[in-house]
Amino acid sequence: MALVVQKFGGTSVGSIERIRSVARRCLAAQRRGDDVVVIVSAMSGETNRLLGLAHQLTTVPDAREMDALAATGEQVAAALTALAIQAEGGRARSLLGHQVRIRTDGAFTKARIQAIDGTKIASTVAAGEIAVVAGFQGVSESGDITTLGRGGSDTSAVAIAAAIGADACEIYTDVDGVYTTDPNVCPSATKIDRISFEEMLELASLGAKVLQIRSVEIAMKYGVPIHVRSSFSDAEGTWVTAEDQSLERVVVAGVAYDKSEARVAVIGLTDTPSTAADLFGAIADKNIAVDMIIQGASRGAQDETDITFTIARSDLDRAKPEIEAIARERLGAREVRYDSAIAKVSIVGLGMRSHAGVAAKMFRLLADEGIPIQAISTSEIKISCLVAVKYTELAVRALHDGFGLGERPKT
Ligand code: ADP
Ligand code: ASP
Ligand code: MG
Repeated sequence: MALVVQKFGGTSVGSIERIRSVARRCLAAQRRGDDVVVIVSAMSGETNRLLGLAHQLTTVPDAREMDALAATGEQVAAALTALAIQAEGGRARSLLGHQVRIRTDGAFTKARIQAIDGTKIASTVAAGEIAVVAGFQGVSESGDITTLGRGGSDTSAVAIAAAIGADACEIYTDVDGVYTTDPNVCPSATKIDRISFEEMLELASLGAKVLQIRSVEIAMKYGVPIHVRSSFSDAEGTWVTAEDQSLERVVVAGVAYDKSEARVAVIGLTDTPSTAADLFGAIADKNIAVDMIIQGASRGAQDETDITFTIARSDLDRAKPEIEAIARERLGAREVRYDSAIAKVSIVGLGMRSHAGVAAKMFRLLADEGIPIQAISTSEIKISCLVAVKYTELAVRALHDGFGLGERPKT
């Protein structure tokens, strides 16, 4: 007998018929003798619909109210799933974030889980009921409803699995595992049987939304194996686990892309030792995270420099006045340019640690397609290039097939 956590994403609970099949799947696991804890996302499209309603009222909505609003999506899905299990003859009870006591910090719309009290879930399961927990939501110290950021139900699931000592955390979604790249963008993408936490962490942070990045961090920290699989079949999916000998040694494990950033180019700054510190200090003071940064000599006067960087597109409106103020007024910039039509494409692989020439090959593959590279960043196991958004799909396919990822045997 095992204690299993099963998480169902938006598409998997996207209609009454699908919720019914989720109920049957949970009951089948229970009938096999397992104790089952289910985590559900909002029905597909619901979170976007709710956020869209708020944006009709105001462009900069209050974050506390946005969380109170967005959390309702998961409340509906949890109650419907519990009802579906009951309708199939089972016993189930829905639990919201504050009922489980999923304690988070107070950072509305991107809260982090601080503690989970597993007793309510444990007593529900001990009573022979299936606990159906609303994903994505928690409660802050002050009792406010918080949400964990887009895709946050993955994190709810893994954190609950860690808190209750589950034997496995199954993430049921609309694809049958983690692929070498987004299968909806690249037809030759192939399913990966096993992938290390480190590689999955990079893929998630570089845009592969199949798992929320924070869920992988928690899984890695607490050693929770994740099984990503399809809610539409019984096929074995992808195991995300610690690195070990059985993992296939590949230079590049996957390709990811991210269209959520914007590029800011600050031209003709007065070049002093503190220019970068002043510019990024002012941006950091507004709690705006910066990703890629390039500082280059300006084509203008000798004591000038240009700095290009990327930030989340969703922060752009908030960041603009700040950047204008510091760059033009304090640091003498001649011009500031903004570009939201960009994408970051990245390759990830543990094997890069010990292989030379991977970056050169990536640049060549992009060059062969005539794709200009606007910025580059690297770490031990990933290389990212910024390109115009219109090249995203072309770049992903060229890199995916160029690194031989389309040739792996289908499993
Ligand atoms: P859910 O609603 O179940 O949480 P998501 O839409 O959040 O599902 O995540 C699944 C989607 O992630 C897939 O439909 C796919 O388009 C996308 N995706 C991006 N990169 C990958 C990848 N490397 N492997 C699998 N899916 C990926
Ligand atoms: N419903 C939330 C979202 O759409 C959380 C999730 O699906 O994981 O982002
Ligand atoms: Mg998701």
